[in-house]
Amino acid sequence: MKDQLEEIRRRALAELGDDAEAEVVENVRVRVLGRSGELTEIMRGMRDVAPAERPIIGKLVNDIKREVEARIEALQEHLRARQLERSLASARLDVTLPGVRIPRGHVHPVTRIMEEMLDILCGMGFEVEYTQDVEDDFHNFAALNFPPNHPARDMQDTFFLPGGMLLRTHTSNGQIRVLERRRPPLAVVCPGGCYRRDDLSVRAAPAFNQIEGFMIDRRGRITMSHLKGVLTEFAKEFFGETRVRFRGSFFPFTEPSAELDIYCLLCSGAGCAVCKYSGWTEVLGCGMIHPNVLRAVKLDPNEYQGFAFGMGVERTALMKLGIDDLRLFYENDVRFLGQFPSVAGGSR
Ligand SMILES: [Zn+2]
Repeated sequence: MKDQLEEIRRRALAELGDDAEAEVVENVRVRVLGRSGELTEIMRGMRDVAPAERPIIGKLVNDIKREVEARIEALQEHLRARQLERSLASARLDVTLPGVRIPRGHVHPVTRIMEEMLDILCGMGFEVEYTQDVEDDFHNFAALNFPPNHPARDMQDTFFLPGGMLLRTHTSNGQIRVLERRRPPLAVVCPGGCYRRDDLSVRAAPAFNQIEGFMIDRRGRITMSHLKGVLTEFAKEFFGETRVRFRGSFFPFTEPSAELDIYCLLCSGAGCAVCKYSGWTEVLGCGMIHPNVLRAVKLDPNEYQGFAFGMGVERTALMKLGIDDLRLFYENDVRFLGQFPSVAGGSR
């Protein structure tokens, strides 16, 4: 029996060499120390051993058991360390590798231009008020002094909705909506969407944005000179150093009325196809608020006076960004949009 035990020890330690793999170590553990392993079998056969021999055999079994256990533990420790080393080597992080750039979106160029315009106007003391896109005839036409037979009220131009409502054709309804709620002195800009039955083309779209602005105070405090001063300053800030001119015009809701032109940005006044060889581009319409508009919101034209202006955001964006086709704004081709990143401060 002693020989048998020595054989178990010799074989186990031979297999548990320094470079033994995890699988071999586990096999030896089960075979030698397991519940029905070699040492357990020996202990079960102790009753056949002479009583005087038993303590010697028992001690030998315990010695072998401890020795094999210690050897297995040491090997397992070694194996764990080796495993860790291997995984660290394969997962090494190279901090000098270039990072992966996550593409970042930005605001649409039309939104950016609108925000730039509003920034300048707010800097001059105008407040921003948003008013509704779905309107009635009174707020979109009648209160703004459009006569009943005015061509803009034609089915050809306006999207009419059931129940006598319509989609506003301009942001001028903002003047009426705000003046019904608030009393002068007021300096307000109303940005928003406008709708007209136009086909999408190089210069027009059925849905577009405008900014309406107006300033009203006691009669005599706001004159045509203020209008010219504010809009000339706006044009200079927005377009940079440029020549401006006011040209007499006609709108139902202003009297007198004017259009503001700037030197064509594309040809700097020399004349090109975009400015029809005049050297000038029209930027906005403006004028002194018509007495009938003031009467419609129950303000006495003998007591109050003010000016108003309105400009198309998309058309102004075309000029400022040097784009010659309005449709590009609606196609949402990121190759196009990516050329107009947001500018610091002027965007979200
Ligand atoms: Zn030009």
